Amino acid sequence: PFDVLVIGGGPAGASAAIYAARKGIRTGIAAERFGGQVLDTMAIENFISVPHTEGPKLAAALEQHVKDYEVDVMNLQRAEALVPAAVPGGLIEVRLAGGATLKSRTVILSTGARWRQMNVPGESEYRNKGVAYCPHCDGPLFKGKRVAVIGGGNSGVEAAIDLAGIVAQVTLIEFDSQLRADAVLQRKLHSLPNVTVVTSGQTTEVHGDGSKVTGLSYKDRNSGELKRIDLEGIFVQIGLVPNTEWLKGTIALTPRGEIEVDARGQTSVPGVFAAGDATTVPYKQIVIAMGEGSKAALSAFDYLIRTPAA
Ligand code: FAD
Repeated sequence: PFDVLVIGGGPAGASAAIYAARKGIRTGIAAERFGGQVLDTMAIENFISVPHTEGPKLAAALEQHVKDYEVDVMNLQRAEALVPAAVPGGLIEVRLAGGATLKSRTVILSTGARWRQMNVPGESEYRNKGVAYCPHCDGPLFKGKRVAVIGGGNSGVEAAIDLAGIVAQVTLIEFDSQLRADAVLQRKLHSLPNVTVVTSGQTTEVHGDGSKVTGLSYKDRNSGELKRIDLEGIFVQIGLVPNTEWLKGTIALTPRGEIEVDARGQTSVPGVFAAGDATTVPYKQIVIAMGEGSKAALSAFDYLIRTPAA
């Protein structure tokens, strides 16, 4: 059995595995797709001390750094169930899709999240070519340009306020007849001169010239009329979905599916820790996920030295 078993091979999981292995304890990492969301990212310009890198390059570096240590790397393995230890200090089980079961004294969950997509024509084709999901990451790439934000909840309205300070013009499109963001955010939004708000708007298509976004179409849900806007960027803000469906009923999750963690990364189950986008940690970013991963590993080590093995 392992001392520390990490589930998920994104920035949080890679960091957790390295911190655990550096303690000289038996460490394993199982991931459905090593690299995680980083693999789907083009330019990364906010990974501190690295002014510019690309997703696949950073993902390869994460994997190489993990492999520099004695870590049992199990790539292309999907976890399907977690069984808490039967007695305090006992072994925790993680069942994999292939049927195998891994056992460990502690587990670190770092299965990340996925952005909810609009599922309209052009969206996947122009992903990273104008279609973006993270304003903190990609906002500066659209300096002085025209963008739309899809979604009028808190994240959409926050994104529109954030982008309004960088880009030339923001059009916020909400499906419902009214915005759902907090009143204070809506007031701030309406005070900005370069933001237009469209309600009852359903995005129907992303337009492009073959290499980048040139506009979008939406349906006015009141009149049924189809409208087209010329722009360079589209930020989709209709929800971040944690990859935690398989933990429901075993680990305490918020109504949105985020794993509840305390300041040390401890979950509701003894010996099980969590880190990164899958958790309640505010702000979903690479540097944050890495910091959280290292913190969860140190907490797991602390648990191991204090808890006698059953
Ligand atoms: P993830 O990166 O999501 O990794 C999750 C891991 O868990 C993966 O290995 C996955 O395969 C695995 N997994 C999931 N479910 C299971 C399961 N059941 N069993 C086994 N393994 C499983 N952040 C920045 O800081 N700067 C940027 O410029 C930036 N740009 C971005 C651009 C895009 C297009 C996207 C989508 C995100 C971007 N982000 C950026 C956000 C950043 O990628 C995430 O915050 C970060 O990757 C989160 O790390 P994580 O380890 O928590 O999760």
